[in-house]
Amino acid sequence: MSRRELDAIVAGAGVAGTAAALGLARAGLQVALVEPREPPAWSAGDPDLRVFAIAPDNAALLRDLGAWDAIAGARAQPYRGMQVWDAGGGQPLVFDADRLGRRELGWIIENRLLVDRLWTAAQQAGVRMHCPDRITGLEQGLDGASVELESGRRLRARLVVGADGGASRVRELAGIGTRGRSYGQRGLVAYIGHERPHQATCWQRFLPGGPLAFLPFPDGPEGPRSSIVWSLPDEEAERLLHADPARFLVELSRAFDGPLGELTSVSARAAFPLRRQLAATQHHGRVVLVGDAAHVVHPLAGQGVNLGLRDVSALLDTAGRAAESGADIGAPARLARWNRRRRSDNTVSAHAFDLIDRIYSNDAPLPVMVRGHFLGIAGRVPPLNRALWRHAAGT
Ligand SMILES: Cc1cc2nc3c(=O)[nH]c(=O)nc-3n(C[C@H](O)[C@H](O)[C@H](O)COP(=O)(O)OP(=O)(O)OC[C@H]3O[C@@H](n4cnc5c(N)ncnc54)[C@H](O)[C@@H]3O)c2cc1C
Repeated sequence: MSRRELDAIVAGAGVAGTAAALGLARAGLQVALVEPREPPAWSAGDPDLRVFAIAPDNAALLRDLGAWDAIAGARAQPYRGMQVWDAGGGQPLVFDADRLGRRELGWIIENRLLVDRLWTAAQQAGVRMHCPDRITGLEQGLDGASVELESGRRLRARLVVGADGGASRVRELAGIGTRGRSYGQRGLVAYIGHERPHQATCWQRFLPGGPLAFLPFPDGPEGPRSSIVWSLPDEEAERLLHADPARFLVELSRAFDGPLGELTSVSARAAFPLRRQLAATQHHGRVVLVGDAAHVVHPLAGQGVNLGLRDVSALLDTAGRAAESGADIGAPARLARWNRRRRSDNTVSAHAFDLIDRIYSNDAPLPVMVRGHFLGIAGRVPPLNRALWRHAAGT
């Protein structure tokens, strides 16, 4: 291999791609990150509408990457409780940090803040940024892969990481197909001001049209606020996206029926189409897929970005050990083992969220009778409660 050859090329500077590039560079590898749009700078006064519930294992990953203090020091809302209930009746499913012996269950963090801080850390770690640019071609050989960029540049590396989102070009260039379905729903997101404090708790109510989640967020100038993700049938989402604010708040209050008192204000709104999409494999030759490039899941369990960061964590483990022993980090047999490990977790999770959506997002009488009781049982039986929590927390 020539001296100018890279160890890894990462396509896409979302959360998964920036974390992968940073981690590989911190392992002493030569890394390039290719991204069409420079990530917008985070600003405290203009909260990003897209927020994530970051699980404890991924907070630990961000700590290991040296990025956690810059993220949490800017704005991260810890949550200590979670309550999930069904509009059809029955007991709620409750997770409580004290009962699970934890200081917090996770953190609500804005997408733009995560990317901004990871991007800065990656630059400081020596990642070569190709931005604005995008991957347009890919060739694989026995000892390396080369990619072509829109700018006409060519890069060669032992490993190519496709972190370029649900419509991944790398996936397409590697000849990897996908399977999935549209949920016929959109996730409507916004910030909502409310009368009572959120008690550092995530609230989620299952409705026939899809779940409605209120995620706690640090107080704004006008008092307590939460970020919402409201999964709605397409036409309903379209209507509510453009409804006047007073009308929107009336319908939201009726749908939530929760303990936050009067809903007093709504920010700008946005809506994202929801679908399940799984790549046929996360690995082909020297190419791996991480994050939404490999799996797009329903947001009802707040796990999308968490699964992506778990792909990255396992990849850093695999590549780091290979680099330490002077082995080829992109050896296809090594990547095949990584693929087996990650694909089973991602496939089980995507189908589990799918099943939950099918059971809860309807008003057929039998599921309504059974599902409320299930939530209550899962909330009251400690071993089941702990097992469900451990799965979500990645611990
Ligand atoms: C309504 C909603 C709510 C959600 N809530 C949660 C939640 O609470 N918790 C959670 O964990 N997840 C949540 N998710 C899921 C989460 O948004 C995604 O899983 C996550 O953003 C995916 O990150 P990523 O880095 O894989 O991809 P992306 O964020 O899509 O980043 C892909 C990047 O690749 C770049 N790119 C595109 N084409 C190319 C190319 N040819 N070459 C190079 N780069 C390219 C793009 O510009 C982009 O920057 C939610 C999703 C929705 C829709």
